Amino acid sequence: MTKENKELADNDPLGSLDPLISQNIPDGVDRRTFLMRSAVVGATAVMTGRFVSAQERTERSTAAPPLAPDLNVVKKSKGPVMTTIDEFYKVGPGPSSSHTIGPMRITYDFYQRASKLPADKLAKATALKVHLFGSLSATGKGHGTERASLAGIVGKEPATVDPLFLDSLRDKPDQSFPVKLGTATFNVTLKDVIYDATKGDFKHPNTMICKLMAGNEVLLEQEYYSVGGGFIEWKGYTPPKKNAPKYPFATMKELRAHADNNKLSIAQVMLANEMSIAGRTQEEVFAFVDKIINAMVATVKSGLSMPEDDVLPGPIKLHSKAATVYKRAMDDKYESDRGIGALSAYALAASEENGRGHLVITAPTGGSAGVMPALVYGLGEGGRKLPLQKIRDGMLAAAAVGYLCKHHATLSAAEGGCQAEIGVASSMAAALVATAYDAPSRVVENAAESALEHHLGMTCDPVAGYVQVPCIERCAFGAVKAWTAYAIASNEIASRHRVDFDATVQALAQTAKDMNSKYKETSEAGLALSVVLC
Ligand code: SF4
Repeated sequence: MTKENKELADNDPLGSLDPLISQNIPDGVDRRTFLMRSAVVGATAVMTGRFVSAQERTERSTAAPPLAPDLNVVKKSKGPVMTTIDEFYKVGPGPSSSHTIGPMRITYDFYQRASKLPADKLAKATALKVHLFGSLSATGKGHGTERASLAGIVGKEPATVDPLFLDSLRDKPDQSFPVKLGTATFNVTLKDVIYDATKGDFKHPNTMICKLMAGNEVLLEQEYYSVGGGFIEWKGYTPPKKNAPKYPFATMKELRAHADNNKLSIAQVMLANEMSIAGRTQEEVFAFVDKIINAMVATVKSGLSMPEDDVLPGPIKLHSKAATVYKRAMDDKYESDRGIGALSAYALAASEENGRGHLVITAPTGGSAGVMPALVYGLGEGGRKLPLQKIRDGMLAAAAVGYLCKHHATLSAAEGGCQAEIGVASSMAAALVATAYDAPSRVVENAAESALEHHLGMTCDPVAGYVQVPCIERCAFGAVKAWTAYAIASNEIASRHRVDFDATVQALAQTAKDMNSKYKETSEAGLALSVVLC
């Protein structure tokens, strides 16, 4: 800044033009957004009479804190996709895979680590503390993160925890539970889960620190990250060693090349990889897939069986509508409207179960847990009654879509907004439907691409931090969009589809990077700001 301009700037918010015209646009921020936000900040300075420096303006214009580059989820050169189906589809309590399933896995993991300490150390243990940071702290209360964290400490795992245990913690928050570590026994309560700083220099927006204490002395401390979809990492994390995939791929293009060159479907390529990476038989892979299909069907049925107008937990007092939408759909005189109504009702049913904190399946996350089950149920016993094998194949193709989104972008709303949750779920569901109807690999890709494309930019702004508004209805829209994507993809000339899936995943990653942090599961903006609860 020139001397003259500095003097002006010191006294007058419009005094210097230098900060307005000489800033470098930071990495990961698009020029238009940067300039727009910068201009807004400048205008604010005029209105408030407070000078805003170029540096401050830059910081406020970029807003979203960067993720640490050494996190496995953000590493660029990752080689082929190595995710396996049992890591991806997880059963656990709603309402959010990153805010309930992830934290429960984290505290369960920490308890296991603590139990391996030498006996003399364990004998001194007096307390176990869990600190929640970033988005976990900002919206954890609405997600029941503290209850999930406590459940993990007392040895409960997401897939087998009784949701009634979590309900009882909500209804009687003062309960205490004994924790036994070696010869030491001490009690833990919800007060041992601490809502810590919401803003700071975290490696990931969903950061937790677990500590085993002896009075004021720390016996063991571990920093963890709930990186989306129930996946967890920790400081010093290295991915587990696995066998090489039979058909290595890192992009949809490579995956489709394997399928086409070997005259296989995408599902068959995925099955071969599951068997080689995890060392499982075909029967074992399908046994797991069947378990997930059954759990998805159960969550839809359970949601539909709830009384009409049941009120979901939390301050929104949201009335459930799955049963009503289903009944009205069945009475509709138009067959097409019955189909759309029923599909929406199935998605609402599973998503409302998530809102109740009941068991759901990450596909890819808890917030989006209504989308895939709606299509699984609709293609199977709830509607089309396709053979089980078709749905199994669809689940494998859907997993490929989810793996690729995780590999190159994110499944975490705290990193990428709702496009990373409902957008990916819808894309997976489109691949499921196309595969179940024996569509060629290019059509499967096009359906998945189309569903993802039309969710790009969608923000995450859960009202009051509860995964209910907009989440529950959004699952219904995600399910219907998946069907629309399949309808378009199976009726166009596949080779004329102009956008390939890999390009759209890149757009997902870049949009996630550019999105203002307020729209990443912080409940600081969007509907969370404009909807006033009374
Ligand atoms: S708005 Fe979307 S991403 Fe955010 S909590 Fe709801 S479902 Fe999840």
